Amino acid sequence: MRATAAMDKRTITAIPGDGIGPEVMAATQRILQAANAPVTFETAEAGAAAFRKGIATGTPRETLDSIAATGLVLKSPLETPVGYGAKSANVTLRKHFELYANVRPVRELPGIVTPFSGRGIDLVIVRENVEDVYAGIEHMQTQDVAQCLKLMTAPGCERIVRAAFAVAGAEGRSRITCATKANIMKLTEGMMKRAFERVGPEYPNIRQDHIIIDNCAHQLVIAPEQFDVIVTSNMNGDIISDLAAGLVGGLGIAPSANLGDRVAMFEAVHGSAPQIAGKGLANPTALLSAALMLLRHIDAFDVAETIEQALFVTLAEGRNLTADLAPRGQGVGTAAFTDQVIENLGRRSHQASRAYALIRLMPWPEATAHTEPASRDLVGLDVFLETDQSPAGLGAALEAMATDSAFHLTGISNRGVRVYPPTGGMTFLVDHFSCRFMLNAPARGSATREIGDLLARISARYTWMHLEKLQRFDGTDAFERAQGEG
Ligand code: NAP
Repeated sequence: MRATAAMDKRTITAIPGDGIGPEVMAATQRILQAANAPVTFETAEAGAAAFRKGIATGTPRETLDSIAATGLVLKSPLETPVGYGAKSANVTLRKHFELYANVRPVRELPGIVTPFSGRGIDLVIVRENVEDVYAGIEHMQTQDVAQCLKLMTAPGCERIVRAAFAVAGAEGRSRITCATKANIMKLTEGMMKRAFERVGPEYPNIRQDHIIIDNCAHQLVIAPEQFDVIVTSNMNGDIISDLAAGLVGGLGIAPSANLGDRVAMFEAVHGSAPQIAGKGLANPTALLSAALMLLRHIDAFDVAETIEQALFVTLAEGRNLTADLAPRGQGVGTAAFTDQVIENLGRRSHQASRAYALIRLMPWPEATAHTEPASRDLVGLDVFLETDQSPAGLGAALEAMATDSAFHLTGISNRGVRVYPPTGGMTFLVDHFSCRFMLNAPARGSATREIGDLLARISARYTWMHLEKLQRFDGTDAFERAQGEG
C-alpha cells in the first residue's frame, strides 16, 4: 500500500523513555514525518519518571490506557532499577498486553563491517516472550536455596510456533529451526519441541529441523548464514538473539517487535545508554528499524522500504554516521545523521530490502485454556523439606513416619540428584530435600485426607515448604524422575 497524504493515519503510542530514548525517538519521528509515513503519535510516559513517582510497575495507568486504545507502541529504552523491588517496565508492558511473540530480525547491514561481513546473515529469531523462567515466579526455599519456576504451557508453545511459521510465510523464508533444551528439560522445553512437531506438518513447504539450544549458539557463530527462522523459548531466545545481533554490528542497531493478538510494540533492543544520554550522540538506527517493522505491521510497506533504503544508502556511503559506527574521530551527532537519512529519502541502495507481507497471527480464544485428560490418577507426592540431617538419617525417619499411612517413601533427592537410597554419587548437599512418597494404591480423587495425614506426620519434625502432586494423565506419568532414580 502506498502512503499518501490522503491515507488514513494510524495513532501510535510513543514512549520516549529514558536516557538516550527521547533523542532516538525524536530522530525517528522526524524521519517518519519527512517520509510522510501514515502515523501520528500520542506521547506516553513509562520507566524512570514513573518509578520516581512511586508507580511500582513503571507504567502509569494513562500509558496503559493509551496503548489499549491505539494497539500500537513505538518504545524507546526504559531503565530498570537494579537491586530494588520494582519490576521492569519493559516486562510489565510485554506481559500486560500479552505480547507473546518477540520477533528479532538479524541482517547484515551495508557499511557495517564485522568479522562476519559478506557471509549473508539474514535470519529472524522468534522468541516466546511471556512464559518460561521470565514469568518471574521465584521463592526462597530455605535461607540458602532459591527457586524459580520454569512455566511453559501447551498454548504458549503452540502459539509461538505458529507465530514463527507466520513470520516465515510473511517474509518468504524457507526454513524454521526450533531450538530447545528438550534433552534435559523434557516436560518444559520438550513441550516446545512437541508443539513444533505437531504444527509443522501444516507447512509442508517450509524445511523444519530441531537443534539443541547450546549447539544453536555454537552454529550461530560457526555458520550463521545457515539459519533462516529460529523459534525458541524465552530465556534461550533472549540469549541467542543478543548473540545474533552481535554478529551483524551489535545491539545498537538491532530492532525488535513484540506482537500479541491486540497490541504490537516495537522497540530498539539496546538500553538507555546513560553514559551518552543528553549529548546528542545516540544512534537512532535501532529505533528507526523498529519503526520500519511497525510500518510494515500497519501495511505501509512502500514507505517502510523508502526509509529503509535511505538508511541503507546512509550506512553504505558512510557519510555522517554516529560515533558508534563511524571511524574513530569522525562521528557526527544524532541530528546530523538524521538529516543525512532524510536527505537520502528516495535513493536506492545496492542492498535490496526484503519482500514482506503482513504477519498474520492466529488469534487465541480469551477463555482460560484447559484440556481435561480422559483419566487422572494421583500416584504420589514430592514433599520439599528443610533439614541439615544426612540423607540416611532423613530417609530412616521418613520411612518410619510413613508406616501405616497411605504412602511409602521411594527416594530422596537433593538439587535433583537421588541421595537416598544411596547411589554412590558424590552429591554436595544443601538443606533442601525432595522426598518422594508414592501412594500405596493410586487415587482417582485428590486424596486430601491422606495427604493431610502424611503432612501432619512430617510436620511434627520437619519444616516443609512445598508439595508437588505426582499425577498420571491418561496413563502417562506427568512428572520426571530425579537423576539416579530408577
Ligand atoms: P545499553 O543502554 O544498551 O548501553 C550499553 C552501551 O551501548 C552504551 O554505553 C553505548 O556504548 C552503547 N549504545 C547503546 N545504544 C546506543 C545507541 N543507540 N547509540 C550509540 N551507542 C549506543 O545497556 P546497559 O548500559 O546495560 O543498560 C542501561 C539501561 O538500559 C539499564 O537501566 C537497563 O535496564 C536499560 N535497558 C533497557 C532496555 C529496553 O528498554 N528494552 C534494554 C536493555 C537495557 P558506549 O558507552 O560505548 O557509547
